Amino acid sequence: MKASDKNYRAGWYDKERDDQGPFRWMAQQAAVSFDDHELQETNYLRVIAGHSFPDNDLPHLTVYLNGQKIGEETIEAAYSPYFFPFSGGGDLYFELKLDRVFHVYGDPREMGIMVREIDVLTPDDVGVFLDGWYLPEQAAAERDRSLSRWMKRKARCLLTNLPEDREKYLIIEAGHSFDGEENPILTVSSNGLSIGKKEIIPAYRIYYFPLSFSSHSFEIELELNKEFSPDITGDSRHLGALVKKLEVIMPEPQEFMYEQGWHAWEFDEFFPYSWMTRKANVFLSSSEVKEHSYVSFFAFSEFANFKQNLRLELDGNVIGDIPLIKNWNYYSFALPPNKSLDSDKSGYELWLTLDRLFPNKYHEDDPRDLGIKISTISFHNDRHVHEDFRFFHDNLRLNYEERKKGQIELKSYPVNLGIDLFAKCNMKPPCVYCLWDWTKEWEEGHIEDVVDEKTFEEYGPFFRSSRLLINCSIGEPLMHPRFEQILDYCARHKKIMEISTNGQTFTKRTINALVGKPIYLYISLDAATKETYAKIRNDRWDSIIPNLELLNQERKKRGNLPKIHMVFIPMKVNRNDLEAYFRLCQRIDADALILRPLLVLNDPKIEHDRGGYHFDYKKELLSREELEKIFKECEEYSAKYGVPVANQFSFGISDRDKFKHKEAVDLETQRF
Ligand code: SF4
Repeated sequence: MKASDKNYRAGWYDKERDDQGPFRWMAQQAAVSFDDHELQETNYLRVIAGHSFPDNDLPHLTVYLNGQKIGEETIEAAYSPYFFPFSGGGDLYFELKLDRVFHVYGDPREMGIMVREIDVLTPDDVGVFLDGWYLPEQAAAERDRSLSRWMKRKARCLLTNLPEDREKYLIIEAGHSFDGEENPILTVSSNGLSIGKKEIIPAYRIYYFPLSFSSHSFEIELELNKEFSPDITGDSRHLGALVKKLEVIMPEPQEFMYEQGWHAWEFDEFFPYSWMTRKANVFLSSSEVKEHSYVSFFAFSEFANFKQNLRLELDGNVIGDIPLIKNWNYYSFALPPNKSLDSDKSGYELWLTLDRLFPNKYHEDDPRDLGIKISTISFHNDRHVHEDFRFFHDNLRLNYEERKKGQIELKSYPVNLGIDLFAKCNMKPPCVYCLWDWTKEWEEGHIEDVVDEKTFEEYGPFFRSSRLLINCSIGEPLMHPRFEQILDYCARHKKIMEISTNGQTFTKRTINALVGKPIYLYISLDAATKETYAKIRNDRWDSIIPNLELLNQERKKRGNLPKIHMVFIPMKVNRNDLEAYFRLCQRIDADALILRPLLVLNDPKIEHDRGGYHFDYKKELLSREELEKIFKECEEYSAKYGVPVANQFSFGISDRDKFKHKEAVDLETQRF
């Protein structure tokens, strides 16, 4: 309970005001009382004081409670709070004694210190900051409205209301203003027991200190190995580190605390990620580490030559040292067995170290130190997934070596796997350009076959080595009777998928199965109006668009996955739909419009009367000139509607020329 009814006794002058607010001069001795208060076991007399003594002649304040000394402090010129702990309640009579005063010519008063506030606080009223801090001040940056306070060389804080049985971290958001100076090292301890040590860099950063104490409240001591000299700061105060936030957090076990070496979170094609610099650390919950066998994440390296290496250390134990693969890839690392971990720890520190950065010349528009992109870190217990990762990694490395040597016969397995999820199609009659009959002749009696988990297991090393599963079937994969289970299985095995659909099989079930998974979904409409659609397929246009909108709506809740790629095969029949197709893509937030060629066939005899139109495959093929015109229009519409275009007419053409630097070969884009 907070004390009230404060009575200034002898030794105080009338209230005055300076540029920081009201204060009272205290004479050499002064007293203040607080009447009859029920107080907690530990309480604090807080005195916020400053003075005008010279720096080499600082006054010393001793405080007595009911005749007993409860503390002494040297008072600095700049206003700071000073805390004098005591126990018990009742009538409180404090005497304050200074070892010196000074006099001003013409003023008969004996001048001691200027007291801005004097009050009695319970631990709950104190807040966090005890001694060793200057008063809070506004951040220098105009747009930053937060308050920070300078820490002196030594400071104390009080942590209260802590749950005794939860994992918790002290977080300190700190920095300083003296770039180019040696950074101070902050040591945090409690009752002589070390909590942690961190170097405080100039830019504000959050520093994490796992707390293994189980008490409900305790004091911590903070000590810096240096303070910045007034010659550097231009400020007579003892400035050590500028602290914006100091609090205790209790993260959920699944939460990770990213500390040093990370840039802000961004969003890539598939994953939220953070660029890591050369060295970065993250804290992992001890219960999660103890309950799991593996830690994993997706990472993106720019190096296609296995020359960038990542090392992982968990509390000093190396748990991984591995050359990285270009592009987004899954990585899994075995955690040390429980018995080799310090069981008292409330959190483990994982350090990630790269042997080289992504060279600056490849990202001149982004001057940051960029190493690799890392997506959210997670844990798992699936030995098969871990072993598949090892197999995948070793195979890819062998594949790279074999290709580099120009070997024709390879021991390695391919890294893309074409699959045929479902051979049958819902379109009756088929789309006008469909080659289903012709292709299925090749499949002979296997049209009824369904690819499932057992098939993937039978693929063995072909499945394990693959990063991308491309559904090549001529048929409608969303009709697969166990579509959800198949997609779940592939996601569990960290596969990225490419699936093409005619867009007429979207239901709540198939949409639910697709959302949140790393899938490139190709939706073939080829038309932007009901009329054109009827000439190519059928009269179901009106049911397709609401489903596409629903898919887009649902995926927004799940990381914007799958990626929606809207396919358009330019033909005579849809030549006038191009701009409207861009508008449709914009309306459903498509990730890209895919221009795909109508296959050039030797004398195709494919003719249909559909939607009042006679479709003759041969006559639908557009001339090179017409196609060039379409490509140009696409560039304009792409800029106008903000829809990227992927032109599959140029499939297979190398982009090697776009790299101008000598090292281009090493960093050359590698298509998996
Ligand atoms: S969706 Fe594909 S398989 Fe089905 S009819 Fe159309 S082109 Fe043929």
